[in-house]
Amino acid sequence: MRDADRRTIIAGLGAGLALAAGGGACAAPRGRKAGYAIVGLGRYAELIMSKFAECEQSRLVALVSGTPEKLARFGEKYGVPESHRYSYADFDRIRDNPDVDIVYVILPNSMHAEYTVRAAKAGKHVMCEKPMAISVAECRTMIAACRAAGRKLMIGYRSRFEPHNRLAIDMARKGFVGPTRIITADHGFNAQPNQWRLDRKLSGGGSLMDIGIYSLNATRYLTGEEPVEVSAIESTDRSDPRFRTVEDRISFLLRFPSGIEATCVSSYSSNHNMYRVSGTDGWIELEPATSYEGQKMWVRRNGRTEEQQVPAGKGQHAGQLDHFAECIANGTDPLVPGEEGLADMRVIEAIYRSAREGRRITLA
Ligand code: NAD
Repeated sequence: MRDADRRTIIAGLGAGLALAAGGGACAAPRGRKAGYAIVGLGRYAELIMSKFAECEQSRLVALVSGTPEKLARFGEKYGVPESHRYSYADFDRIRDNPDVDIVYVILPNSMHAEYTVRAAKAGKHVMCEKPMAISVAECRTMIAACRAAGRKLMIGYRSRFEPHNRLAIDMARKGFVGPTRIITADHGFNAQPNQWRLDRKLSGGGSLMDIGIYSLNATRYLTGEEPVEVSAIESTDRSDPRFRTVEDRISFLLRFPSGIEATCVSSYSSNHNMYRVSGTDGWIELEPATSYEGQKMWVRRNGRTEEQQVPAGKGQHAGQLDHFAECIANGTDPLVPGEEGLADMRVIEAIYRSAREGRRITLA
């Protein structure tokens, strides 16, 4: 437990406070709410479905699953009629459902590209979970498919709608603790055996694809820069049955154009969720940083460490859902479009390559 005063700072960071309080800047709803179809009714989808109750501009209108029992259970729970429940084989019929504006893909990673392309071809906008796909090539195909269909594509980077993270971005980019020099970001959890995440064919990779991506994405949103150099080391106990096809731990160093360095950890065998932005005059720390709830934030400046109280604002999940609804209503671009998912995937491929080849990789 650190020695920290509790106080709400943010005076002098007016824009940051406004962002933090808003959580996802919502205009008043115009016309009807945007209708979402959820594809894949697993654990995260279950959480997302519960969040429509907090939305102002979004509603759940359709479900897609391979399990009839789940379609019936969640259909009844959320008032989705049988006519709006689809199997994977049936999925393309969604084009004929005018209530569906957005298809939200919450499937194992290797299925994201296929369902995004099919949704775009059905004339729907697409929200796709992170990681966007399992390769740069797939990300490009998804972006092209949505562009060709004239539909929007957004990636489920919910932390961009979480008030502590929004404030940290604002403070870091405005130099509240001086110009940023170093970022450390650690994300991991102890992976349970026997799940698709541990099967490379479905996940595309191990901890980096699933949880380390939060470390990577944070370094990019905290700096507003793209890394130009990557070095990585992987440590995986291949005798552990969980890690036959995917990596456990991968540590990576990123160098940014302004000279900022980020040291990051991604792990499937240790539990952590934090980042710290160190500037010339102090640091900003979030711990937990990117969890579903419970974020805490500390700032050290002028020799004092203080816990920052951040106004709760709208929850990150509802903020994310309503933001995309608003983009569609207003014809604006999402804060985290497909290009954001592609940018992460480019770095992920370089991290894997660096670990494999034992050398630094330069990103053009
Ligand atoms: P999950 O295992 O709980 O759910 C996956 C769903 O896909 C299940 O309903 C399963 O039946 C279905 N499915 C269809 N075909 C499948 C197949 N061949 N193999 C396995 N499952 C199949 O997983 P989850 O935790 O809900 O993750 C789903 C996606 O959501 C992943 O891309 C994950 O990275 C992402 N996710 C994002 C967050 C976040 O905070 N943004 C959190 C958790 C998961």
